[in-house]
Amino acid sequence: MHGNVAIDGPAGAGKSTVARLLAQKLGYLYIDTGAMYRALTWKALQLGIDLSDEEKLVSLAVVTTIKLENTAGGTIKVYCDGVDVTAAIRQEKVSNHVSIVARIPGVRRRLVELQRQMAASNRVVMDGRDIGTNVLPEAPYKFFLTASLEERARRRYQELIVSGREVDLETIKEEIRRRDARDSQREVDPLQPAPDAEIIDTTNMGVDEVVSKLVELIKARTKDPLQSSCLR
Ligand code: C5P
Repeated sequence: MHGNVAIDGPAGAGKSTVARLLAQKLGYLYIDTGAMYRALTWKALQLGIDLSDEEKLVSLAVVTTIKLENTAGGTIKVYCDGVDVTAAIRQEKVSNHVSIVARIPGVRRRLVELQRQMAASNRVVMDGRDIGTNVLPEAPYKFFLTASLEERARRRYQELIVSGREVDLETIKEEIRRRDARDSQREVDPLQPAPDAEIIDTTNMGVDEVVSKLVELIKARTKDPLQSSCLR
């Protein structure tokens, strides 16, 4: 097996968990590009930057150091200018503003540059919104994970309840719907499947089942060069 793996899809489709486990199985580096947009958004909110000030946000993207670390235990840690923001970037305030920051072309240029640098020196499983279409268009393995809005909201709700938060399912559904709309309708690199991506509806699938399916599909494409070239 060789070559990078690109995983895209809407919010809450299970991309991060699946990508992390798949990377472990393949012995690849896992790169969570959403965490990078989140880290920058966290920083902007910390500094009280007006999120409609595109120029300021682009300058911030250029001077901010964002690092992703794959730990020995299989989790990832996110650092923003040396500060561990792994937990902070999952706050609702960040989730509800990140797609505003992520639609700015100069911000994307900077983060995409960093993402490509990471993929140039490592075998990676990278997840996000524009990996197959823009960041790694040459990746031989591309997947687009989806699930119904109801199911995605339910999964997010369960996660938050387990972590002790008081949340409302309808509010979560509305936030996810709004974020997907912003991500799909933005002008630069909107959320959409690459033409050669395999689309997988995970509504009725468990995490392990999805990971096994991806491994199977990767193996099938690797073994059969004819199929592999047809799928490209
Ligand atoms: O993957 P996650 O839900 O953490 O991503 C947070 C947000 O970051 C997305 O809703 C999107 O606005 C932005 N994003 C992006 N391009 C990527 C990854 C994430 O625009 N490749």
